[in-house]
Amino acid sequence: MLKVDNLCAYYGESIILKDVSLSVEPGKVACLLGRNGVGKSTFLKSVMGLVKTPKGSVYLDNDDITKLPTYNRARKGIGYVPQGRDIFPQLTVYENLVLGLERNGYKKGVLTKEVFELFPVLNTMMKRKGGDLSGGQQQQLAIARALVSEPKILLLDEPTEGIQPSIIQDIGRVIKKIKERGNVTMLIVEQYLEFVMDVADYFYVMDKGSIVLDGKTEGI
Ligand code: ATP
Ligand code: MG
Repeated sequence: MLKVDNLCAYYGESIILKDVSLSVEPGKVACLLGRNGVGKSTFLKSVMGLVKTPKGSVYLDNDDITKLPTYNRARKGIGYVPQGRDIFPQLTVYENLVLGLERNGYKKGVLTKEVFELFPVLNTMMKRKGGDLSGGQQQQLAIARALVSEPKILLLDEPTEGIQPSIIQDIGRVIKKIKERGNVTMLIVEQYLEFVMDVADYFYVMDKGSIVLDGKTEGI
Protein backbone atom coordinates (compact mmCIF):
# COMPACT_ATOMS: atom_id res chain seq x y z
CA MET A 1 0.00 0.00 0.00
CA LEU A 2 1.33 3.42 -0.99
CA LYS A 3 -0.41 6.49 0.40
CA VAL A 4 0.71 10.05 -0.16
CA ASP A 5 -0.85 12.88 1.84
CA ASN A 6 -0.58 16.57 0.95
CA LEU A 7 2.92 16.37 -0.42
CA CYS A 8 4.55 19.68 -1.40
CA ALA A 9 7.86 20.01 -3.25
CA TYR A 10 10.02 22.94 -4.30
CA TYR A 11 12.95 23.55 -6.60
CA GLY A 12 14.59 26.57 -4.95
CA GLU A 13 11.81 29.08 -4.43
CA SER A 14 9.46 27.58 -7.03
CA ILE A 15 6.71 25.34 -5.77
CA ILE A 16 6.39 22.30 -8.07
CA LEU A 17 3.98 20.04 -6.14
CA LYS A 18 1.02 21.51 -4.30
CA ASP A 19 -0.61 19.26 -1.71
CA VAL A 20 -0.55 16.11 -3.80
CA SER A 21 -2.48 13.20 -2.30
CA LEU A 22 -2.98 9.78 -3.85
CA SER A 23 -3.01 6.15 -2.86
CA VAL A 24 -2.41 2.80 -4.51
CA GLU A 25 -3.94 -0.31 -2.95
CA PRO A 26 -1.72 -3.38 -2.39
CA GLY A 27 -1.00 -5.26 -5.61
CA LYS A 28 -2.74 -2.66 -7.80
CA VAL A 29 -1.36 -0.57 -10.65
CA ALA A 30 -2.02 3.18 -10.79
CA CYS A 31 -0.94 5.51 -13.57
CA LEU A 32 -0.08 9.16 -13.18
CA LEU A 33 -0.85 11.11 -16.33
CA GLY A 34 -0.24 14.70 -17.33
CA ARG A 35 1.33 17.01 -19.88
CA ASN A 36 5.05 17.72 -20.06
CA GLY A 37 6.44 19.71 -17.17
CA VAL A 38 3.48 19.41 -14.77
CA GLY A 39 5.55 17.69 -12.06
CA LYS A 40 5.11 13.93 -12.61
CA SER A 41 8.80 13.03 -12.38
CA THR A 42 9.23 15.43 -9.47
CA PHE A 43 6.46 13.54 -7.70
CA LEU A 44 8.24 10.18 -8.05
CA LYS A 45 11.52 11.78 -6.96
CA SER A 46 9.73 13.24 -3.95
CA VAL A 47 8.43 9.80 -2.98
CA MET A 48 12.02 8.56 -3.21
CA GLY A 49 13.26 11.46 -1.08
CA LEU A 50 15.36 12.90 -3.89
CA VAL A 51 13.56 16.27 -3.77
CA LYS A 52 12.90 18.25 -0.60
CA THR A 53 9.33 17.95 0.65
CA PRO A 54 8.78 20.48 3.44
CA LYS A 55 5.18 19.37 3.84
CA GLY A 56 3.30 16.08 3.51
CA SER A 57 3.70 12.38 4.22
CA VAL A 58 4.43 9.23 2.25
CA TYR A 59 3.16 6.05 3.88
CA LEU A 60 4.42 2.65 2.93
CA ASP A 61 1.92 0.38 4.62
CA ASN A 62 1.66 2.31 7.90
CA ASP A 63 5.13 3.84 8.10
CA ASP A 64 5.75 7.47 7.16
CA ILE A 65 8.94 7.12 5.11
CA THR A 66 9.52 10.89 4.84
CA LYS A 67 11.00 10.48 8.32
CA LEU A 68 13.68 8.13 6.95
CA PRO A 69 16.97 9.16 5.36
CA THR A 70 16.87 8.94 1.55
CA TYR A 71 19.29 6.02 1.32
CA ASN A 72 16.96 3.99 3.49
CA ARG A 73 13.94 4.30 1.24
CA ALA A 74 15.03 1.70 -1.29
CA ARG A 75 15.77 -0.67 1.58
CA LYS A 76 12.32 -0.01 2.92
CA GLY A 77 11.01 -1.59 -0.22
CA ILE A 78 10.67 0.90 -3.05
CA GLY A 79 12.05 0.16 -6.50
CA TYR A 80 12.45 3.20 -8.77
CA VAL A 81 13.07 3.26 -12.52
CA PRO A 82 13.79 6.87 -13.48
CA GLN A 83 12.84 8.55 -16.75
CA GLY A 84 15.29 7.72 -19.52
CA ARG A 85 17.10 4.41 -19.42
CA ASP A 86 19.48 4.28 -16.55
CA ILE A 87 21.66 1.56 -18.10
CA PHE A 88 25.44 1.43 -18.06
CA PRO A 89 26.33 0.72 -21.70
CA GLN A 90 29.82 -0.64 -20.98
CA LEU A 91 28.65 -3.15 -18.35
CA THR A 92 27.09 -6.49 -19.23
CA VAL A 93 23.41 -7.17 -18.67
CA TYR A 94 24.30 -9.26 -15.63
CA GLU A 95 26.58 -6.57 -14.20
CA ASN A 96 23.85 -3.97 -14.74
CA LEU A 97 21.38 -6.19 -12.88
CA VAL A 98 23.45 -6.73 -9.76
CA LEU A 99 25.10 -3.30 -9.63
CA GLY A 100 25.09 -1.91 -6.11
CA LEU A 101 23.07 -4.78 -4.72
CA GLU A 102 25.88 -6.42 -2.77
CA ARG A 103 25.86 -3.54 -0.32
CA ASN A 104 22.31 -4.55 0.56
CA GLY A 105 23.31 -8.13 1.36
CA TYR A 106 22.70 -9.54 -2.12
CA LYS A 107 24.85 -12.59 -2.84
CA LYS A 108 26.61 -12.56 -6.17
CA GLY A 109 25.36 -15.17 -8.61
CA VAL A 110 22.01 -15.64 -6.92
CA LEU A 111 19.56 -13.91 -9.22
CA THR A 112 16.00 -14.63 -8.21
CA LYS A 113 14.22 -17.22 -10.32
CA GLU A 114 11.25 -14.88 -10.62
CA VAL A 115 13.29 -12.21 -12.34
CA PHE A 116 14.46 -14.74 -14.92
CA GLU A 117 10.90 -15.89 -15.47
CA LEU A 118 9.67 -12.34 -15.96
CA PHE A 119 12.29 -11.37 -18.50
CA PRO A 120 12.95 -14.33 -20.79
CA VAL A 121 14.47 -12.00 -23.38
CA LEU A 122 17.20 -10.99 -20.95
CA ASN A 123 18.13 -14.55 -19.95
CA THR A 124 19.90 -15.15 -23.22
CA MET A 125 21.74 -11.85 -23.04
CA MET A 126 23.44 -11.86 -19.65
CA LYS A 127 26.91 -11.46 -21.16
CA ARG A 128 26.00 -8.78 -23.70
CA LYS A 129 26.82 -5.15 -23.04
CA GLY A 130 23.93 -3.02 -21.79
CA GLY A 131 24.59 -0.53 -24.60
CA ASP A 132 24.06 -3.22 -27.26
CA LEU A 133 20.44 -3.82 -26.24
CA SER A 134 17.48 -2.24 -28.01
CA GLY A 135 15.49 0.50 -26.27
CA GLY A 136 12.77 -1.95 -25.24
CA GLN A 137 15.31 -4.46 -23.93
CA GLN A 138 17.09 -1.72 -21.98
CA GLN A 139 13.81 -0.71 -20.41
CA GLN A 140 13.17 -4.32 -19.39
CA LEU A 141 16.67 -4.46 -17.92
CA ALA A 142 15.99 -1.26 -15.94
CA ILE A 143 12.74 -2.74 -14.58
CA ALA A 144 14.43 -6.09 -13.85
CA ARG A 145 17.15 -4.31 -11.87
CA ALA A 146 14.56 -2.54 -9.75
CA LEU A 147 12.89 -5.91 -9.05
CA VAL A 148 15.98 -7.84 -8.03
CA SER A 149 15.86 -6.23 -4.58
CA GLU A 150 12.23 -7.42 -4.25
CA PRO A 151 10.48 -4.10 -3.61
CA LYS A 152 6.94 -3.84 -2.30
CA ILE A 153 6.42 -0.69 -4.35
CA LEU A 154 7.64 -0.13 -7.89
CA LEU A 155 7.76 3.39 -9.36
CA LEU A 156 8.21 3.59 -13.14
CA ASP A 157 8.75 6.92 -14.90
CA GLU A 158 7.53 6.77 -18.52
CA PRO A 159 8.53 3.18 -19.32
CA THR A 160 7.31 3.50 -22.93
CA GLU A 161 9.13 6.75 -23.73
CA GLY A 162 11.08 6.49 -26.97
CA ILE A 163 10.05 2.86 -27.55
CA GLN A 164 8.45 1.65 -30.79
CA PRO A 165 4.72 0.86 -30.49
CA SER A 166 5.30 -2.82 -31.34
CA ILE A 167 7.74 -3.17 -28.44
CA ILE A 168 5.54 -1.26 -26.00
CA GLN A 169 3.42 -4.43 -25.77
CA ASP A 170 6.44 -6.29 -24.36
CA ILE A 171 6.72 -3.75 -21.56
CA GLY A 172 2.97 -4.09 -20.93
CA ARG A 173 3.28 -7.89 -20.75
CA VAL A 174 6.07 -7.60 -18.18
CA ILE A 175 4.02 -5.23 -16.04
CA LYS A 176 1.02 -7.57 -16.19
CA LYS A 177 3.19 -10.52 -15.19
CA ILE A 178 4.58 -8.56 -12.23
CA LYS A 179 1.00 -7.72 -11.27
CA GLU A 180 -0.08 -11.37 -11.48
CA ARG A 181 2.49 -12.20 -8.82
CA GLY A 182 0.40 -9.94 -6.60
CA ASN A 183 3.13 -8.77 -4.25
CA VAL A 184 4.18 -5.52 -5.92
CA THR A 185 2.19 -2.28 -5.88
CA MET A 186 2.94 -0.11 -8.92
CA LEU A 187 2.75 3.58 -9.70
CA ILE A 188 3.57 4.34 -13.32
CA VAL A 189 4.03 7.78 -14.84
CA GLU A 190 2.90 7.49 -18.43
CA GLN A 191 1.70 9.60 -21.35
CA TYR A 192 0.76 6.82 -23.74
CA LEU A 193 -2.96 6.43 -23.03
CA GLU A 194 -3.46 3.09 -24.73
CA PHE A 195 -0.76 1.60 -22.53
CA VAL A 196 -2.35 3.08 -19.40
CA MET A 197 -5.75 1.59 -20.25
CA ASP A 198 -4.10 -1.77 -20.83
CA VAL A 199 -2.11 -2.09 -17.60
CA ALA A 200 -3.61 0.22 -14.96
CA ASP A 201 -6.45 -0.30 -12.47
CA TYR A 202 -6.84 3.41 -11.93
CA PHE A 203 -5.38 6.73 -12.95
CA TYR A 204 -4.55 10.16 -11.61
CA VAL A 205 -4.15 13.24 -13.79
CA MET A 206 -1.74 15.96 -12.71
CA ASP A 207 -1.75 19.56 -13.87
CA LYS A 208 0.50 22.35 -12.59
CA GLY A 209 1.62 20.27 -9.63
CA SER A 210 -1.84 19.21 -8.43
CA ILE A 211 -4.03 16.15 -8.97
CA VAL A 212 -6.99 17.43 -11.01
CA LEU A 213 -8.76 14.18 -11.86
CA ASP A 214 -8.77 10.54 -10.78
CA GLY A 215 -10.76 7.44 -11.56
CA LYS A 216 -10.85 3.80 -12.58
CA THR A 217 -9.66 2.78 -16.04
CA GLU A 218 -12.33 0.04 -16.20
CA GLY A 219 -15.07 0.89 -18.64
CA ILE A 220 -13.34 3.85 -20.29
P1 ATP B 1 7.80 15.37 -18.58
O1 ATP B 1 6.47 14.85 -19.02
O2 ATP B 1 8.40 16.25 -19.60
O3 ATP B 1 8.73 14.32 -18.10
P2 ATP B 1 7.17 16.08 -15.82
O4 ATP B 1 5.70 16.17 -15.60
O5 ATP B 1 7.86 14.85 -15.40
O6 ATP B 1 7.47 16.39 -17.35
P3 ATP B 1 9.02 17.44 -14.05
O7 ATP B 1 10.26 16.88 -14.63
O8 ATP B 1 8.58 16.91 -12.74
O9 ATP B 1 7.81 17.35 -15.09
O10 ATP B 1 9.20 19.00 -13.94
C1 ATP B 1 8.25 19.85 -13.30
C2 ATP B 1 8.75 21.26 -13.31
O11 ATP B 1 9.92 21.38 -12.50
C3 ATP B 1 9.13 21.80 -14.69
O12 ATP B 1 8.72 23.15 -14.76
C4 ATP B 1 10.63 21.69 -14.72
O13 ATP B 1 11.17 22.67 -15.54
C5 ATP B 1 11.00 21.92 -13.27
N1 ATP B 1 12.23 21.18 -12.88
C6 ATP B 1 12.45 19.86 -13.07
N2 ATP B 1 13.65 19.51 -12.55
C7 ATP B 1 14.18 20.65 -12.02
C8 ATP B 1 15.41 20.93 -11.34
N3 ATP B 1 16.31 19.97 -11.08
N4 ATP B 1 15.61 22.21 -10.96
C9 ATP B 1 14.70 23.18 -11.19
N5 ATP B 1 13.53 22.97 -11.83
C10 ATP B 1 13.27 21.72 -12.24
MG1 MG C 1 8.98 13.45 -16.39
